[in-house]
Amino acid sequence: MNKQAQFTVVLILVVCLTVGTLIGVTAGTYLFNLTHPEAGASETTDEPTGTASSSDSQTAGQTTAKPSKPEDETPKKKIALTFDDGPSAAYTGEILDLLEQYRAKATFFVCGNRLNENTKAVFQRAIALGCEIGNHTVSHKYLTELSEQELLQEIRDTNEKIAQYSGNDYKCIYYRPPGGFINRSVVDKLCGNGVYMYPIFWSSDSLDWQYQSRYQKGEITRDEAVTGAFDTIVRETKEGTVILMHDIKEITPDILKLVLEKYDAEGYEFVTVSELFGLKENASDKEAYYNRYRSTDSILPIK
Ligand SMILES: [Zn+2]
Repeated sequence: MNKQAQFTVVLILVVCLTVGTLIGVTAGTYLFNLTHPEAGASETTDEPTGTASSSDSQTAGQTTAKPSKPEDETPKKKIALTFDDGPSAAYTGEILDLLEQYRAKATFFVCGNRLNENTKAVFQRAIALGCEIGNHTVSHKYLTELSEQELLQEIRDTNEKIAQYSGNDYKCIYYRPPGGFINRSVVDKLCGNGVYMYPIFWSSDSLDWQYQSRYQKGEITRDEAVTGAFDTIVRETKEGTVILMHDIKEITPDILKLVLEKYDAEGYEFVTVSELFGLKENASDKEAYYNRYRSTDSILPIK
């Protein structure tokens, strides 16, 4: 065999080996894919089907390993308890005791002229318990009857006293108009002077002040006054209700106790006004404060 013949034989052998190897690899891959379909799928461009089903089943496996959503994470029905005209050295403390006992939060719409050294402690305790503070003017004047200057003074002075007596520069973001009296002009005057605050009304009125008055006049017994106000609240209360009471009335702590017992047993959570409505302090969001007055039924004048 000459050298050229030897070279030809070597060349043929190399070609055969190469072709054989290629056939073997291809056949092997084919067989592998036949027995491992999910591996083949992941290498194709048809990724959503192959990988999705695979990862879904893995996720499902992991999910079953963990407990599903715990029951205590289920959103609770919420109501907001609000107390006006205080604080009161005589009754606000008793109200806070009950709120603390039920791990309830409330909102106190305070009058500026009731913030003093006698009420400072209960006022600060309310804030420490996670309750919120709203502005109820200095002296409970009807906003619709005030001049622009008087209006600003009633609101601004109360904000300042709240900040001062909180001991922590508390910033009030909403107010409750005394008697529920408000109109477009009031909001325009406040916003026109840079006072952007949410007006907050109520949807369940305890009429505790009226029942207390009838009891004091001897028209009804004390028990009748307490249950009368409680029944009034119950008639108007459902999920999302804002309940109005007054922490300057002697019968109010007893009314509150019945309310807490009933709605706690029914699985309600007692939250602040800002939590119920999702209000946030945001100085750059002035238009939102304004629009809220214009667009929300719950804050239209009720009287
Ligand atoms: Zn009031």
